[in-house]
This record gives sequence, structure tokens and C-alpha cells, in this order.
Amino acid sequence: MNSQLRDLPSIDRLLRSSELSNAVGNYGHETVRQAARAILSEYRSQIQSGLLLKGSDLKSKAFFSELCLEIEDEVAAQSRPLLRPVFNLTGTVIHTNLGRAVLPEQAVNAIVEVSGSAVNLEYDLKAGKRGDREEGVEAQICSLTGAEAATVVNNNAAAVVLVLTALSVGRNVLISRGELVEIGGAFRIPEVMGSAGCHLKEVGATNRTRLADFTQAVDDETGLIMKVHTSNYEIVGFTEIVPESDLARLASSKNLPFVVDLGSGTLVDLSKYGLPKEPTVGEVLANGADLVTFSGDKLLGGPQAGIIAGKRNFIDKLKRHPLKRALRVDKLTCAALGAVLQLYRNPSRLAEELPILCDLTRSQSEIRGMAERVLPAVSQFLAGKAEVSISACKSQIGSGAMPVDLLDSLAIRIVPITTDQSDLRLMEIATDFRSLPVPVIGRIHDGSLYFDLRCLRDTEKFCRQLGAEP
Ligand SMILES: *Cc1c(COP(=O)(O)O)cnc(C)c1O
Repeated sequence: MNSQLRDLPSIDRLLRSSELSNAVGNYGHETVRQAARAILSEYRSQIQSGLLLKGSDLKSKAFFSELCLEIEDEVAAQSRPLLRPVFNLTGTVIHTNLGRAVLPEQAVNAIVEVSGSAVNLEYDLKAGKRGDREEGVEAQICSLTGAEAATVVNNNAAAVVLVLTALSVGRNVLISRGELVEIGGAFRIPEVMGSAGCHLKEVGATNRTRLADFTQAVDDETGLIMKVHTSNYEIVGFTEIVPESDLARLASSKNLPFVVDLGSGTLVDLSKYGLPKEPTVGEVLANGADLVTFSGDKLLGGPQAGIIAGKRNFIDKLKRHPLKRALRVDKLTCAALGAVLQLYRNPSRLAEELPILCDLTRSQSEIRGMAERVLPAVSQFLAGKAEVSISACKSQIGSGAMPVDLLDSLAIRIVPITTDQSDLRLMEIATDFRSLPVPVIGRIHDGSLYFDLRCLRDTEKFCRQLGAEP
């Protein structure tokens, strides 16, 4: 064992060798040194635990070359981009863990265009002096929602925090008991209120809240009235909620802002596209909300952003607050959001041009077509290991949008052939798919692995990496 350990080449010899000179040139001396150290230490522990064959000639030229290749592979693997495209076949269209909305080509191009160059982000080209970074998108949001003014921050959580901090710090925020939402990822309305320095005042009961409850709760300590869209659950049965227009009237009579956190705000009536109806930002404003907050990367289908639209006097207050500066968006977000909002100007083309809407409205026959195209490739890839079939399934919209509305879809269903340790086999199959050059992410349910094909798009690319001719 000791002689084998001694026979391993030294790091210095490896780094000086011509076989690693390219790697050193491309990735740098220190990076290659670290990879070499890691690989050598793996060999050392293999030798120590007797896993390396006794007869292996560690002094041979062949072993040296093999070692260099391993080091190069390791360096290359470490240098891969941190974020990689994946196939989202989970059945959740807006998947937070998979980056939410897929951007339309126009937004991707806009990002590319502005990212490698200086741009007129805060520069008025006509006047030749400082301009406003939000002017363009603000005008677009106003024209699409009917709002007087708007502002954009990093995400909708930030939008809610900014509104609460700027308009109600140290004061009470009235909100129905039925709307104390947890969005996930530790975003809970009661805690957000606390962190913004507001006092939560719960109104009514979990299932029923009336206008009179709000009227009685308003006092000198009240800072604002809030309504939160219960985006990831629904209260059904014996329920009553206060119409937005009633809350708006009450707030206005008491000189208080009425704020609606719409969560996954949409700018168009989705029922026109055969989807469940969601209140649009414009409708909520028309009902009398002073401010509406919503996400850029949920149903809107754009980049991560939080949009606040509504009355000018409140928006001006938000823009002047120091927190706004900490939460402002960069040129990439402005460019992408601008390009996405531009698409909304022509709603008749939206379902083709906006990926999120394209996925949500994809017809059963189109999904079936994709299922039939990929079935042979998946069957061949798993030959002898699993039964592969086409199975009906339900997609969900995701990210808290429309929690109870599921969309009919079709999936490739994979069931391991063996009955022995079939759960383990299923995990191995799922791991194999996640290890592909473009990892495939599905959903495991009831002893099967499902690939919901609603969001597949590129069947050729999918089949090619499984080693099949599309
Ligand atoms: C998703 C959501 C948020 C948080 O929005 P992000 O853009 O993820 O920060 C806040 N409120 C509601 C009601 C939501 O659905």
C-alpha cells in the first residue's frame, strides 16, 4: 500500500506536464492545482481502503495520462455555468424552483442587447441629461392597467414590504383573518407586517368577514387597509368576503390607502383564452384599490420583478422612500419587462408569443402529438428497465396562481419492471434523467415517474439526448 501511495505522481509533476498545459492556460494554475489535489486524494483513499487493484502500475505513462484526463474533466465540470437549462416536465407551469416564467424571445433579445453595452437606463437622450429609469415601463403599465402611476422593484415580496413600510410604519394594517397567507419560502403576511414595522390587526373570522368588521376596526391607529389575494388556497363552504369596492369606499372615507396584494397579477382576462378567471390588475384598480402589487414572473410571464400600480400620490411616496433605492431593478429587468409588456399591447398574438400563456393554453391534441413523438425514445432509453406509457394527468399553474384549477394534460408514465425495490429503481431512473446534458425533471407519484409534456416545447432536443432519432 505504501509503495502504491509513493508511486502516485506529485501535483507539481502533473501541473508541469504538457498534457495539462492547455487546462492550465484555459482555467489557471490554481484551479487545476485544486482539481489535481482532489483527484489525487480520491486515489489515495482508494489505495488506503484497498479498492485500487494491487497490480495497477501507477508509474506507467498510461496511468499518468489517464490521471491528467480525469483532472481536465474535473476542471471542466467545475467550470460549467452554475445555472443550466432543464426540461420542466413536473406539470407545474410556473415553477419557482425552476426559475418561474420562461421569457419570450423578445425579452431574451432585449436582455442580450442591453447587457453587453452602456444604455440610456437613466439618461434622457433628448435633453442630454439624467433621466428616470422607470419612465418607459411605468408608461406601459399605466396604459395596460389604467393606473395613474406605477413603480417596479425586485419582486412582489419587496413590493409589499415597500408599501407597508412607506405608508403604514408604526400603525395598524387591517386585513381579513381569511387572508393571512403564507406564500412559501417564509413569506407570511403576519411576519412581513412585523418586519415592515406595522401592526397587524386581524378583522373578522377565517371564513367570513363583513364590511361592518372593517368599519369597527378602523381607528386613529389605522395606517392602511389591505387585501391579499389568497393565491395558494381557497376557502370554500360557508364564506363571506367584503367586495373590494366596499373596502375601497370605506378606506377613502377614512382617508386611508386601500392596498391589494394580487400576488400573481395578470393584465388580461385569462378566461378569453379558456383559462380560469383571475381578477386583472385593471379590474382591481377599477374597483377602487389605491395600490395593487403583483409579480413580474408569475402569470405576467416576465422577469422577476414586483410591480406596484395605482394612485400617483401613493406611488410618489413609494418612489421617494429610501427603501425604494435598495429594492430598485437593474437594466436587464427593465429591458425584459419592457419587452414583455410590449407583447400585451396585442392580446390577439399573446397566446403564441408569451411562453407562459402558450404552455397554459396548449391543446390536448398538441400535447398528445408530443407524447407520441417522445414515447419511443423514452421506451428505448429504458428498455428492459421500465414500462413506459402515455397517461392522462393534471398540470397545475403553480407559484400560487389559481391553486384549485388544474389543467388536463398528458404524461409519459414510467414504472420500473422489477417489483423488487421498485422505489429505489424509480429513484435511479429519475436520477438518470436528471444527469442528462439537459436535465429532465419530472414528478414521482404513486410508484411512477411522470413527465408531464405540457411544457416540453422541443421534442427533438429531448429525443436526441436520449440517443434516439427524433
Ligand atoms: C407570490 C406572492 C407573493 C410574493 O411574490 P414574489 O414575486 O415571489 O416575491 C406575495 N403575495 C402573494 C399573494 C403572492 O401570491
